[in-house]
Amino acid sequence: TLPHIYAITPTYARPAQKAELTRLSHLFMLLPNLHWIIVEDSNSTTPLVRSLLQRAGLEKRSTQLNIKTPPEFKLQGKDPNWIKPRGVEQRNMALAWLRTHVDVDRHAIVFFMDDDNSYSTELFAEMTKIKPGHVGVWPVGLVGGLMVERPILNEDKTQVVGFNAAWQPKRPFPIDMAAFAISMDLFIKNPQAVFSYEVQRGYQESEILRHLTTRQQLQPLANSCRDVLVWHTRTEKTKLTSEDALQRQGKRSDS
Ligand code: UDP
Ligand code: MN
Repeated sequence: TLPHIYAITPTYARPAQKAELTRLSHLFMLLPNLHWIIVEDSNSTTPLVRSLLQRAGLEKRSTQLNIKTPPEFKLQGKDPNWIKPRGVEQRNMALAWLRTHVDVDRHAIVFFMDDDNSYSTELFAEMTKIKPGHVGVWPVGLVGGLMVERPILNEDKTQVVGFNAAWQPKRPFPIDMAAFAISMDLFIKNPQAVFSYEVQRGYQESEILRHLTTRQQLQPLANSCRDVLVWHTRTEKTKLTSEDALQRQGKRSDS
C-alpha cells in the first residue's frame, strides 16, 4: 500500500483564493493517498474553504485549521533581514497537529504545498518512493531567476553533490519549499524542527532541513532530478478597478 502524503497548505483570503484552492482540490481528487492539511491565515476557519473541501469530496481526508499571522511579523520595509512571514505560523501549526495526530509507526510523507504553485500528479508518485528517515528532492521550474532550479548528482546518480541555484547559492539548502518532501518519522525524532521568523529571507527551507537531514542524505527523485514536475508559478495580483467603482454605488458583481 502507498504511504500517506500529508500536504500542508497555508492560505489567505484574496480575490484569487477560491480559484487557487479549486485547482488544488481537483488535483487531490486524483490522488487518493493524500491528506490535505489546509491552514487559513485568519482568526477562524471560513465557509469558503469548508464548502470547497465538501464539493471536492475531501472532508474525510482533509483537516481545516486556522491561525492568523501576528501583525508584528508582517514585514516592515525597514527590516530587510527578516523574512516576510509567509506561511510560517501556519506551517508550524500543521506540524504541531501532525506530531500529535499521526500514527508514528506508519510510514508517511510530509510536503509543504503552497496554494499558488502548479503540481503534476507525477510528483506525488515520486514522493511515495521516499524512504523512512529520508528527505526526497527534485527540480522546481520557474524559480530563483532560472527556468529550473535543480540538485546536481554524482556520477552514478545516487547522491546530491551540489545545486545549480543562482539566487543565494551559499544557503545550506539552496532550494525552494516545493523542491522536497520529508519522511514523517524525522519530524517525530526532531521535535525542534520548526519554521522560524528569525531567519534571513530565503533561509526558511534551510532552517527546517538543517534539523532533519544533510546534503549527503538527500534522496534524489524525479528521474535522477532530470524531470520538472512542479513549477513555482505566481498568480498576478487581481485588478478590481471596476469592482471598486461598483462598490462606491453600493453594488458588487458577485452578490
Ligand atoms: N500565505 C499566507 N499568508 C500570507 C501570505 C501568504 O498564508 O499573508 C500563504 C500563501 O497562500 C502560500 C504560502 O503562504 O500558500 C506562500 O506564499 P506566497 O505564494 O505568496 O509566497 P511566494 O510564492 O512569494 O514564495
Ligand atoms: Mn507562491
